[in-house]
Amino acid sequence: MGTNVLQLTNINKQFGTFHALTNVNLNIEKGKIYGFIGKNGAGKTTLMRVISGMSFPTSGSIELFGKTETKAICKEREKIGVLLEDRGVSPDFTAVQNLKMQMILKGIRDNARIKEVLEIVGLTNTGSKKLKEFSLGMRRRLTLAATLLSKPEFLILDEPTNGLDPVGIKDIRDLLHKISQEQGTTIMISSHILRELYEVATDFIFIDSGVIMGEISKEQLYKKMESKFIIRSKETGKILNTFKEHGMGEKVTVSGDTITMSGNDTDEETLSSLLHESGAVLLEYTQTKETLESYFINLIGGRHDA
Ligand code: ATP
Repeated sequence: MGTNVLQLTNINKQFGTFHALTNVNLNIEKGKIYGFIGKNGAGKTTLMRVISGMSFPTSGSIELFGKTETKAICKEREKIGVLLEDRGVSPDFTAVQNLKMQMILKGIRDNARIKEVLEIVGLTNTGSKKLKEFSLGMRRRLTLAATLLSKPEFLILDEPTNGLDPVGIKDIRDLLHKISQEQGTTIMISSHILRELYEVATDFIFIDSGVIMGEISKEQLYKKMESKFIIRSKETGKILNTFKEHGMGEKVTVSGDTITMSGNDTDEETLSSLLHESGAVLLEYTQTKETLESYFINLIGGRHDA
């Protein structure tokens, strides 16, 4: 088997005449954490449901863990853990009772696994506490624990941090890093908190109106997100001479009265002292940095509410 966990080719999904997904082509590679980004109604949940077998595509083909036959794909889906909403858990059950119920529903017989997943999500000490007495963060961790019972190789998580406070969000983030690093689990996660996704994901997939708008690795994005210093002055010559004297002439571009300098390999202190040394009068001196959010907005062109 190669490193491909999932390959989608020309997947379409229609609800009546409405096109929820249009010609989706995707490769999901083993061990990566994919941040799945799109506005409300962009098609994230629909695609996750198609991948996990909860909904059928109108057309297109799916290859899962190297298998393409419908029956074989069904079998391979046992390797997927899906968290699409807080379902299948009972508010009147304790953590252990809930997980036992899930084990029965999923036909899993390994009782020791309950202790293991509770340890993974940090919920070993909840004892006789019922789910309805859990905080939202604890409930999320329990549903994640239920998803982990079957030791999935591929985790699909639709907004697992929705409604959590910053500590709860960090807990889930740490948990996903741990699962990914210790078990090599492939993860696809959607969230509207792009800062969080940036922290957790290795790769990003952008969807808009059911169309995949682009994919980028964190490494590629980081290069694009390079910060820049913008310096405006009527005396750009003085500034350029000073930069050249200090061997920094090649790091800048000049257009009219504006000098732009890459900020990733320049620190602000050095730059300030060079500008001071040049003696030039500055009209403007700012630092800009693209973010995952601004990259996404540029990609889909315009306003967003992701
Ligand atoms: P959100 O971020 O709000 O959860 P999403 O990206 O997950 O949005 P989807 O839930 O996949 O979006 O919905 C995509 C589009 O498909 C929406 O316009 C939605 O109304 C539509 N849709 C989803 N399920 C159905 C259905 N069963 N019948 C008709 N339309 C549907």
